[in-house]
Amino acid sequence: MALPLDELQQRLRDVAQAISIERKHRYIDIQGKRSTFSKFVMSQFKHFEQVLDLPSPSRRLSQGSSRGSLQREENVEDDVYKMHQVFQQYPFMDVSARRHAIERLERCLQFLADPFRASEPSKVSGTEGAEQANEAQQSSPSQGDKAVGLRGIPVSHITGVGPSMAKRLGLLNIHNVQELIHYYPKRYVDYAQQVPISQLQVGQDVTIVGSITSVSLFQPRNKRLMILSLTVTDGLGRLKATWFYNGVPRSVVEGYKRRFPKGATVMMSGRVKENKQGRGLEMDRPEVELLDDEQDGLPDNLRQRSIHAGRIVPVYPLTEGVYLKGLRRIIHQALEQFGPQIQDPMPEHIVSDYDLTPLPDALRAIHFPEEMEQAETARRRLAFDEFFYLQARLAMVRSQYKQVVAGATFQPVDNGYVSQCQDELPFQLTGAQQRALNEIDQDLSSHEPMYRLLQGDVGSGKTLVALLTLLRGLENRVQGALMAPTEILAEQHYKRFVEWLTPLGLKVGLCVGKLGAKQRREVQQGLLNGQIHLAVGTHALIQDGIEFENLGVVVIDEQHRFGVRQRMQLKDKGNHPHMLTMTATPIPRTLALTLHGDLDVSVLDELPPGRTPIETKLYSPSQRKHAYASITEAIVRGRQAYIVYPLVEDSETLAAKAATTEAKRLQEEVFPQFKVGLLHGKMKADEKEAVMGRFASGETHILVSTTVVEVGVDVPNATLMVIENADRFGLSQLHQLRGRVGRGQHASTCFLISDTSNPLTIERLSIMEQTTDGFVISEKDLEIRGPGEFLGTRQSGLPEFRLADLVTDQPLLNLARQAAFDFVQDGTNLLEYPRLRQAILENTEQVFQLLTSG
Ligand code: ADP
Ligand code: MG
Repeated sequence: MALPLDELQQRLRDVAQAISIERKHRYIDIQGKRSTFSKFVMSQFKHFEQVLDLPSPSRRLSQGSSRGSLQREENVEDDVYKMHQVFQQYPFMDVSARRHAIERLERCLQFLADPFRASEPSKVSGTEGAEQANEAQQSSPSQGDKAVGLRGIPVSHITGVGPSMAKRLGLLNIHNVQELIHYYPKRYVDYAQQVPISQLQVGQDVTIVGSITSVSLFQPRNKRLMILSLTVTDGLGRLKATWFYNGVPRSVVEGYKRRFPKGATVMMSGRVKENKQGRGLEMDRPEVELLDDEQDGLPDNLRQRSIHAGRIVPVYPLTEGVYLKGLRRIIHQALEQFGPQIQDPMPEHIVSDYDLTPLPDALRAIHFPEEMEQAETARRRLAFDEFFYLQARLAMVRSQYKQVVAGATFQPVDNGYVSQCQDELPFQLTGAQQRALNEIDQDLSSHEPMYRLLQGDVGSGKTLVALLTLLRGLENRVQGALMAPTEILAEQHYKRFVEWLTPLGLKVGLCVGKLGAKQRREVQQGLLNGQIHLAVGTHALIQDGIEFENLGVVVIDEQHRFGVRQRMQLKDKGNHPHMLTMTATPIPRTLALTLHGDLDVSVLDELPPGRTPIETKLYSPSQRKHAYASITEAIVRGRQAYIVYPLVEDSETLAAKAATTEAKRLQEEVFPQFKVGLLHGKMKADEKEAVMGRFASGETHILVSTTVVEVGVDVPNATLMVIENADRFGLSQLHQLRGRVGRGQHASTCFLISDTSNPLTIERLSIMEQTTDGFVISEKDLEIRGPGEFLGTRQSGLPEFRLADLVTDQPLLNLARQAAFDFVQDGTNLLEYPRLRQAILENTEQVFQLLTSG
């Protein structure tokens, strides 16, 4: 799921690519498909200048005086403003001047690629001295620019970590002290409870203290194995501990044995087991700590002494050559040695306003908590940081959009198209629609271009919101465009819009691939001279030759079906138009804030009244015949039905085969009196469209398909759906599929067929019987499957949090987002907190790459 936030990134990549082509062709100002290299660069810099347009006196000045200037060492930012001029001259330059121009260009690109350039201290004149002082005071003086603080200290500087251990830690992606102390435990074992031996119960993780009554070393006939055992008493009870050593030299094990003289006091932590021979209790390989006399009977002191026993101990994910006790010791040592150097990048007011544990305390407590509550408060702080960094980065990205000035602002017009259209509606807007429209109007009236995502279940009335948004633009004398992912969808929208807009005297143009040359020319002309007010279409809208007179507002339906570049290309047909994107895939709020956190989001969480909700039934294969009977009955009454087959194997080819075979069988054996159509992903686009077309027109009664049934396809007459092997789908996917029915005035039913006997699966599927609310279902789905699975792919752009949990930490996420957005605002705040800036950057590097690729 890519985001509009990457538009800048995409443009930068495009320019970089153009450069490499130009270089390969030895600086000939190569002619591309649309324009020459130099013209292309100029067109892109128009956008870059906008992004940088911050009020800055120094720049205005140098911009004015740039023409005759011979100065070489200029500020890169100023150079951005000169690129337009430079590339205007490019065609007239000789090769070496061209090469030089491109080098300058590349420096500009590098500068633009840094999302924090706006807060580069050196760029702000007047406060420079103060800034540098601040930076110097905040960062560790010993290190260079790149790695400051604990990140600059390699793990080998920790006492006891040699080169070979350092290398092994590298396997866990731990290279420096910073990474080490942020390597969090995956769980804890609570050995803090000291229990009298007589009260031990099997299965408990406990700590006991006692004196050794016997030690023995036993070697069975198998020579490689040795068994060391220890018996301990605390006066009332008696406990045995055993260790098995396989292949360890006898001398070594004898050394172990000597560590435990008879009569010495020990503390042992481990899990209580039953002795195999049924003779009392024992511990298998416990942690043992020898207690000297002074500390005998002083368990509180002892707790501080050991890091492996008698306390809550951390358990870490490990790797070859890094073992639990070793890693625990290294982390403990690192905290001892470098703990005083831990600096909290978070501004003090945020720490106190949000009641956060100070960072050094949190880090100590996450590894070696005195009580479980301490670990939990520490986790809260560190999870807050994870959310905060990401949200701060998103806030930065957003502030970049907002630095661009919208091409036009729209105010409601008295008795304009919007109110005329609303007067004609046979129904009232739902509360949710009204809320969304108010939010949109707010955006449209501002000088910042709108970047809003409209989320709403199938049938929630997004199209109407889109239409009214477009009309708001139209009544303010700009053109609008709506882009949909398929011709069928585009045509559906087109038909509806013609119905609504013709009475208002407005002209709608359809722009799809299959138009004839004459029709296409008509649309082209109409858009260019402004006679067409609203364009509805597919990718055909962004092709060459389609130009608008004055495009001011853009809607993208099913936004996830388009790449960044495509959305951008449509926007580029206008002058910084406002943009509304829409999706019918409800995702839980935590995911939305993470994935679309740079956008404003409106939610339609309310369906228009008067819908008959879809009834859903979970059937076993033996009940399938009842579903078929319902289909027959419905078709006789004039309705239609879908039958869906999932990927039985993990292959669309096999699924296509299964659906093909089934369609044949259904046609011949089950429904010979009806017409059965077939749709699968292996078909060509025009074949698919033809099949869908026949179903939409009612020519075919039953559509057998794989999961490719188009999202958003609207055949209100289809009232039945059978989903085979329903247990193979996620709930959200089932919900999407089910949304194909229940779109008309007739009551609809969905049959989920599954042969599962797994009670958990049945419970999961029965959620579908209980609710049709997409948001409820998506929350449940997220709970059951976790964020990665939920989105279905690792490439989903979802960042991996180490402590934060997108299912259970919603309140914390809300807090962190509020803190981050309040703090970042227009980015200038970050000037005062270079260390925080650095931390945000470091902690979001990977995520940001993910978010902007695509
Ligand atoms: P979506 O695009 O969100 O799936 P649509 O915009 O296609 O949903 O709306 C589904 C149906 O509901 C359409 O027939 C539309 O005319 C109708 N509709 C939209 N808003 C309302 C409303 N406020 N009251 C009644 N019907 C509505
Ligand atoms: Mg729709």
